[in-house]
Amino acid sequence: MYDNGIVIVGGGHGGSQTAASLRAEGYDGRLTLLTAEREVPYQRPPLSKAFLKDPTHELLPLRPQSFYDKHAIDLRLGAEVTAIDAAAGAVALADGASVPFDRLVLATGARPRVPSVPGIDLDGVHTLRSAADATRLRAALHAANDVVVIGGGFIGLEVAATARLLGKIVTVLEAVDCLMGRVVAPEISRHFLALHRGWGTDVRLNTPVGRIVGESGRVVAVEDGEGNRVPADLAVIGIGVVPNVELAAAFGITVDDGVQVNDFMETSDRHVLAIGDCVRFEHWALKRSVRLESVQNAVDQGKTAATTLAGKREPYRAVPWFWSDQGDVKLQMVGLSMDATESVVRGTPDGGSFSVFHYRGDRLVAIDSVNRAADHMLGRRLIAAGISPPAEVVADEAADLRALVKAPAGA
Ligand code: FAD
Repeated sequence: MYDNGIVIVGGGHGGSQTAASLRAEGYDGRLTLLTAEREVPYQRPPLSKAFLKDPTHELLPLRPQSFYDKHAIDLRLGAEVTAIDAAAGAVALADGASVPFDRLVLATGARPRVPSVPGIDLDGVHTLRSAADATRLRAALHAANDVVVIGGGFIGLEVAATARLLGKIVTVLEAVDCLMGRVVAPEISRHFLALHRGWGTDVRLNTPVGRIVGESGRVVAVEDGEGNRVPADLAVIGIGVVPNVELAAAFGITVDDGVQVNDFMETSDRHVLAIGDCVRFEHWALKRSVRLESVQNAVDQGKTAATTLAGKREPYRAVPWFWSDQGDVKLQMVGLSMDATESVVRGTPDGGSFSVFHYRGDRLVAIDSVNRAADHMLGRRLIAAGISPPAEVVADEAADLRALVKAPAGA
């Protein structure tokens, strides 16, 4: 079908899934997976959790090398794509090689956003995205005493919790007035603020970083915008990510804080698809453009891209979900709460196990759960099926919500 084959750029969660799904869909032509990293595609979430905490923890491959061999997937490590060459119908690699394609899938992910503050290039200032980053950070973290985390989002808080478990003195500087503010309910944000403070982390809200202070080229402190100084022998930046769109943009594909794709993961160029953290798409339920950063989204969009390439037209309709482990507490989210108009709590925040159900009008749109995996799993089914239990039923702990998704007797 595609004589020159399909090339996937980026061997993360999305790229690896696309390759596997293409074979599962019956595509038996040439299939090349190019990734700039040196490792066989691996699970990224542990990098801020178990991998960071335990020096003996190894990378967890998404699939073993033997999988790629068995399915004739030409996985090339250390293969950074520098350009898409339209005239040649090929991608150019940093080592001068080129790989022809009929169809291209961009799964280039995202990179950490870096603040433009003085001192950002000092030794001891770290970002975290890749296995190489995590290996460097792990060595530095275990040797450090005073850790300053810049940014109170998921990754910053996971690193902070791990650092506290290792007995470090930890300070989190967050620019706005709440933690994880962009994505979780205020109740959840407050709960995690109390948790981190309870674990002994000095969390400072409304405290943007001013500069990173160094001596002899190494970080010794971080100063906030008002000049207050926090000692640091390690600073970790966790202020979000920037999508890797440069290849697409240089090729003339439409880009706007993410490569623009339609419901089938197709870009503005008919030869090129894109998936995962690097894309922006119009969400069918929210009726607005979103860019999602999660394993679920990358994996499910990889499956959709594969079905598109296999000649099927199945629009992307997966229910979004995400998790974050901070210390021994599990936060799970399903759906998207950004346009919610009302929320109701189920369970007991004081007891450390509760969920916040978000509604838009009377429609259930999202659930954030703290140590309540059953609510999360049920939420995935409720939202997928379009079932919205009334808020007063949700608030009643005695009400059995599972009955709502059970098949009626005799059905
Ligand atoms: P990625 O997995 O980032 O893969 C992109 C790949 O493309 C990379 O290997 C990159 O090197 C490669 N690449 C980029 N440009 C080029 C190029 N020009 N040439 C060749 N290769 C290129 N999500 C959750 O749902 N739950 C979690 O608990 C969670 N924890 C996380 C913890 C950490 C530390 C990090 C960094 C992320 C975490 N995430 C979590 C987010 C999740 O990992 C991402 O959403 C997911 O990896 C996105 O998959 P992707 O395939 O789009 O991109």
